[in-house]
Amino acid sequence: MPALPKAFTDTLIGLPGYNEAAFLAVHDSPERITSVRLQPQKVQSIKAVFPQLDAERVPWTTGGYYLSSRPSFTFDPQFHAGAYYVQEASSMFLEEALRQTVPSSAPLKALDLCAAPGGKSTLLQAALPAGSLLVSNEVIRSRAALLADNLSRWGTADVVVTNNDPRDFSRLENFFDVMVVDAPCSGSGLFRRDPDAVQEWSYDNVILCSQRQQRILADALPALKPGGTLIYSTCSYASEEDEQILDWLMEHENLVSLPLQIQESWNIVPTESPVHKASGYRFYPDKVKGEGLFIACFRKEGDAAVPKKGKSKFSELAKKDVERVLPWLKPDVDVRMMAHDGEVLLLSPAVAEEMPLLQQLYIRKAGVKAGQLSAKELIPDHQLALSTLISPELPGTELTLEDALHYLRKEDLRLDAVIKGWALMRFGGMNLGWAKILPNRVNNYYPKEMRILKSGMPEI
Ligand code: SAM
Repeated sequence: MPALPKAFTDTLIGLPGYNEAAFLAVHDSPERITSVRLQPQKVQSIKAVFPQLDAERVPWTTGGYYLSSRPSFTFDPQFHAGAYYVQEASSMFLEEALRQTVPSSAPLKALDLCAAPGGKSTLLQAALPAGSLLVSNEVIRSRAALLADNLSRWGTADVVVTNNDPRDFSRLENFFDVMVVDAPCSGSGLFRRDPDAVQEWSYDNVILCSQRQQRILADALPALKPGGTLIYSTCSYASEEDEQILDWLMEHENLVSLPLQIQESWNIVPTESPVHKASGYRFYPDKVKGEGLFIACFRKEGDAAVPKKGKSKFSELAKKDVERVLPWLKPDVDVRMMAHDGEVLLLSPAVAEEMPLLQQLYIRKAGVKAGQLSAKELIPDHQLALSTLISPELPGTELTLEDALHYLRKEDLRLDAVIKGWALMRFGGMNLGWAKILPNRVNNYYPKEMRILKSGMPEI
């Protein structure tokens, strides 16, 4: 990677835990860390997904593993099936922060405000208590589409993906029990992974980011319930984006800092904001097996006014139509079926309950889309194929690796299967999507926008 500019490294001198020699050495080293987190509702063991690799647990998370080498995820059908999410290991610390600051007994309403591409959202979905609701928001439209695709792969009915500016959340005053603000930042913590970003670093940008972080927090915080938890994080080392933001929060918002218990073996550096001594935590790549990260937790004080609900635009699916959808689902799933714009949505009870309020946002994806009901049949949606709700009894065929990759590139398939009609294309027992098998051909229903574009054969 290019040498780190002195203008940048000079700004790090004196920061808590900064060791210049070790920091420069780790940025010079060719070693790259690869880590993944399993979707626990789809796979239980890392060996089931990566039998040929050595895997070591990421210490602060339940389903996170370091892999001994980096496979080509693009050419792994199980990646497309949503068996796991490729996530940088320090970021997985969010799970430990939640464990220490959020009650685990009752269902919660959580907001991931700056969510694309979805690493923290997939983690939150898995880590929140059963019955919780997650709103996963991204302001940039193209990134919101990517976020929705990644949450479709994750496949659960308790997430709503929105495409809103932080200020739009003022409509949901005092609504959320947990708010995660993984703020856009100057990105120095990811220099090792993204060497091109080194050239783009400037102190002016650090200041711009710091101002934007304050704006985002001020806009979104009214939506956090008093008693609720704010988790703020960046992947920047700059104190202007880290400790100084904690001081800004202490001065402008009604918040109490929540210190975390940190095990010594984790090598995470505790830090404090200069004025109000709010607690934060720094991750340096020469100290932890992961990239640069900063994280801090707060509790909001004050009295809660309960937000008023309106009337839902989504209607319950008619009973006769429910009967048509049920055979596609596992027998024991707890979902509400709603009709919207001719489509059938499967919503967790918590999502369905809050739809009258959430519909004030620009919703990109709510729960799992089951499909469209025509006069004759349910035309199943890709989201249903990848969901954790789908019946394992539906017709389908296990593909070879070669055929799975043809399918994922949306190429023509020839199958010897004796099935007719809608069939699930599977790999390693996991659903990849739908095909419709006709007497003389197979129609590949893999979504065009999600298909593999790279050519060539798998490297793993
Ligand atoms: N949390 C994500 C994850 O774990 O996968 C990474 C989020 S990234 C650090 C910050 C996100 O904030 C980006 O997706 C970016 O598009 C978004 N963003 C940029 N400007 C923003 C703004 N003014 N308000 C809110 N979000 C913004």
